Amino acid sequence: MTTPVIGVLALQGDVREHRAMLEACGVRSAAVRIPADLAGVDGLVVPGGESTTMSNLAIAFGMFEPLRTFVRGGGPAYGSCAGMIMLADRILDGRPDQQTIGGLDVVVRRNAFGRQVDSFEADLHAPRIAGDEPMRAVFIRAPWVESVGPEVEVLARVEGGPQAGTIVAVQQGNVMATSFHPEITSDRRVHEYFVRLVRSPQ
Ligand code: GLN
Repeated sequence: MTTPVIGVLALQGDVREHRAMLEACGVRSAAVRIPADLAGVDGLVVPGGESTTMSNLAIAFGMFEPLRTFVRGGGPAYGSCAGMIMLADRILDGRPDQQTIGGLDVVVRRNAFGRQVDSFEADLHAPRIAGDEPMRAVFIRAPWVESVGPEVEVLARVEGGPQAGTIVAVQQGNVMATSFHPEITSDRRVHEYFVRLVRSPQ
């Protein structure tokens, strides 16, 4: 593969931030809005935003089946926050008509951290992604991973406070997700990790 092209699902959410981060990691980025846009991409990012709106728009644009086909076919995918919800096989506290792409054998709870800690930042260790150096993780009305299937690797957990131990980053094969938003920080390590996955898919 020469320079990979990574698509960012551009129905709603912080598409621009992900595209800027990907370009800073040395790959090309492309907006994915209609099924044909998936043909030219080597990987897919599902951004942060509002998963219920993304679900509505994906239904309206006929995107769910093409997206599922991409992920089921081994296409590398990374979702942040709302993107994590979109890549989960099962969700809790979703809207009744809300759909997901799936790909991760996990149960994800929307808006899980609750009102008191609606948005917060925390230092996390994610050894596979970032070695020993902690990452500053930004959570905004974030989901968490309530349970994982046997094939899922936990990449990071909350480390302190009442939610210590909560799973906030996961990977299963070529699909990965974070509850937090590296795309709005200056820390490129999560995107660099995903770019390595795109260059050498499992
Ligand atoms: N709460 C949002 C949702 O349910 C996710 C928030 C985010 O992406 N920052 O989709």
